[in-house]
Amino acid sequence: MREWYGDRNQQIYLDYQASTPMDSRVISAMVEHYSVSFANPHATDHALGWAAHKAIEDASAKIAGVLQVDADEIIFTSGATEANNLALLGLARRALPGRRRILVSAIEHRSILAAARAAERVGIQVDFLPVTDEGIVDPAELMERLGDDVLLVSVMAVNNEVGSLQPVKALADAAHGVGALFHTDAVHAPTAGIVDMAEVDADLASFSAHKIYGPKGIGCLYVRRDLHDRIEPLMYGGGQQQGLRPGTLPVPLCVGFAVAMGLMAGAEADAERKRIATLRDLFVERLRRAIPCVLLNGPRLVGRHPGNANLRFAGFDAYELLAMMQPRIAASTGSACASGSVEPSHVLRALGLSIADTNASVRFGIGRFTSSRDIDEAIAVIVGTANKYDDGNKVMPRNTF
Ligand code: PMP
Repeated sequence: MREWYGDRNQQIYLDYQASTPMDSRVISAMVEHYSVSFANPHATDHALGWAAHKAIEDASAKIAGVLQVDADEIIFTSGATEANNLALLGLARRALPGRRRILVSAIEHRSILAAARAAERVGIQVDFLPVTDEGIVDPAELMERLGDDVLLVSVMAVNNEVGSLQPVKALADAAHGVGALFHTDAVHAPTAGIVDMAEVDADLASFSAHKIYGPKGIGCLYVRRDLHDRIEPLMYGGGQQQGLRPGTLPVPLCVGFAVAMGLMAGAEADAERKRIATLRDLFVERLRRAIPCVLLNGPRLVGRHPGNANLRFAGFDAYELLAMMQPRIAASTGSACASGSVEPSHVLRALGLSIADTNASVRFGIGRFTSSRDIDEAIAVIVGTANKYDDGNKVMPRNTF
């Protein structure tokens, strides 16, 4: 089975942090369950229901095994947006009077930032943690803001825009030191080789299947077992998943998620990350040589998510540049459309970039199905487009540094 269904001669997919194509092994496993496991996995009166239930149990056991936690600590959700909301709002709605402060980093995904804002409406105070120009939360900065009134610290393990890896264990230790809980949005952690939640020492962690070559519409929240009764569910229903997230579970999606997660650990996964990092480094180096005004945003390449390259094309407008490269290159600007207007990336702004520099930045994401030919062709297209972009006003190359 071909791994990716676009026209490879026409389109080069370099947006792996937005979503990943599904792995054929994931699809094969799911297809089987669409036919054999159609029964309600919560139906207890017949053997077909038991079989569907067993498939769910096996899926959570497999995911839990990779994350080094127990199967009953995995709560399936529709994705990481829901997992992040369940973590923040669920804890906030049951917060005791003495602990009503939440600390989140300034570069969190919008599903954390917006959930934190919603928590304010139930009387929670939200404080934001600054980051360095490499997109890192300094544990000393966290310590300064911690107190025994803090309910939760939530810092993402790996940033989706600039690929910075946080010192999560040190942040978790600091939070635990004052009796606070530690949650991490770990959506991009598996593709960066971070899967062992015991090592991270997180109390709660969010995952999403479509960022790890699995299907869209499924993710999970890992919740340490003794915290289950401290979370108010977002929805009420049949009491499935220990009442934390009711609703009939989609068996094929859970199975696909588990197969995808299974492929995230072990020697093959280690080799894959090395191959991806080598391609990414080559991509950045060659682009920088061909277009002198190109600069790397965020952390240095070593110690960064292996597939992430966030590049600033100084003097260019990233939207125009990407628009000119359609349909050949899929990459992203990191800006968000809010109520019809385009907001510059809050992540790049928090790293200290000016609005102009933010608007000149493109995130390229390299992954499992990127070949060295893709890199060669992408560079040819990007360099060709950058040359065409030169319309007399925006002269290229314009090395202003
Ligand atoms: N957190 C991060 C860091 C993400 O990159 C994303 C996806 N863009 C999400 C949360 C939301 O995940 P989902 O699409 O599964 O809701």
